[in-house]
Amino acid sequence: MSTVLVIGAGGVSSVCVHKMAFNADIFSSIHLASRTKSKCDAIAASVKQRSGQDVATYEIDAEEVPAMVNLINKIQPSLVVNLALPYQDLPIMDACLEAGVHYLDTANYEPKDEAKFEYHWQWAYHDRFKEAGIMALLGSGFDPGVTSVFTMWLRKHKLKTIRTLDILDCNGGDHGQAFATNFNPEINIREVTAPARHWENGAFVETPALSKKVEFDFEAVGPKNMYMMYHEELESLSKFIPELERGRFWMTFGDEYIKHLTVLQNVGMTGIDPIKYQGKEIIPLQFLAAVLPKPETLGETTTGNTNIGVIATGEAMDGSGEKTYYINNICSHEAAYEETGNQGVSYTTGVPAMIGSALMLGGTWAGANGEGGVFNMEQMDPDPLMEMLNAHGLPWNVVEMDGPVGF
Ligand code: NDP
Repeated sequence: MSTVLVIGAGGVSSVCVHKMAFNADIFSSIHLASRTKSKCDAIAASVKQRSGQDVATYEIDAEEVPAMVNLINKIQPSLVVNLALPYQDLPIMDACLEAGVHYLDTANYEPKDEAKFEYHWQWAYHDRFKEAGIMALLGSGFDPGVTSVFTMWLRKHKLKTIRTLDILDCNGGDHGQAFATNFNPEINIREVTAPARHWENGAFVETPALSKKVEFDFEAVGPKNMYMMYHEELESLSKFIPELERGRFWMTFGDEYIKHLTVLQNVGMTGIDPIKYQGKEIIPLQFLAAVLPKPETLGETTTGNTNIGVIATGEAMDGSGEKTYYINNICSHEAAYEETGNQGVSYTTGVPAMIGSALMLGGTWAGANGEGGVFNMEQMDPDPLMEMLNAHGLPWNVVEMDGPVGF
């Protein structure tokens, strides 16, 4: 029985809050605050209709630390769940420190003026969280989040060591739009247009964005082109799996998506440096995000499946030599929409955010020796999350492959 405060009212938040309400024995009192209160109210109305549970709503600018501290002190939650944007991670962590409350998010901090996805800003809070006796759990979404837990589950149960790791993120959904992103367009385009980086022999190797492409046949989707890109869990995985020789991240994009993105990039619409427009400073990418379809409106028309998983090769636990395993989840956009009113990409992120919250609130995930501090998903016991994925709508499957990936 716990009180929880969720920040942000986009697609991920909507799924997470619905799932919390469906588990009222764990989340007995749910509070939702965001920049636009009407979006919180719309989520609360849907939750009431689908579950009968009440959600209290508030307007907040999460970058205003004193206002956040006041709100936390008023509500007295056991946990603050940050489902706003990566820019708000540090101010929300500051507010949690001041109010003495645990923290969870799904994406690492990014400064607004640089497309840099790095954990060091948040890792630098470790000692302060430890001294305050509170815990911050970073990246409890699908990728990062479940992909890290999949990897650590393989390393606990199947492989003594992991030599190579490939994370494969396939969205086989069709939303019927010429160009749209499945989560916040600004964050998504910053991520996709950044140079690719992968881990190889102890260092990150940089290559131009979207320059390496491979076709892969995804179960429940079919053959798709996937592109190598940088993703933040490569930083935490390479830290917590010291023997890792090569770690890569792949995401599928259709030809139409690539065509639109290339044009938008060539005409300067994906830039993050301010430009003067009619006497005002605007950021081209923010303007573009404002005219693109909102991810939370795509649910109704999206059909098909997501298929996200990891392929790991290493020394088998039973001493039988080198083995390769593929572990993944397939999620139906239509089923996600029917259950929560949101498409599959929001669903695959919002469900692990709810599960990570439940594991923290129940004390199952409590940091090293129950002490406070800032932790990544790789540092937690993977088993409780793996069990809860099966029970809460994201079942997974593991198979042994014939050998290491050939790409
Ligand atoms: P949305 O853009 O749909 O929602 C973000 C919400 O945050 C909006 O309601 C927005 O308010 C609110 N917000 C923005 N700025 C502030 C602020 N200063 N104060 C308070 N609220 C604010 O994003 P998504 O739901 O798609 O994504 C949410 C998070 O999940 C992002 O951080 C994203 O990177 C992450 N994510 C993680 C994934 C994973 O697998 N780990 C996958 C997908 C997403 P307003 O409504 O006014 O705009």
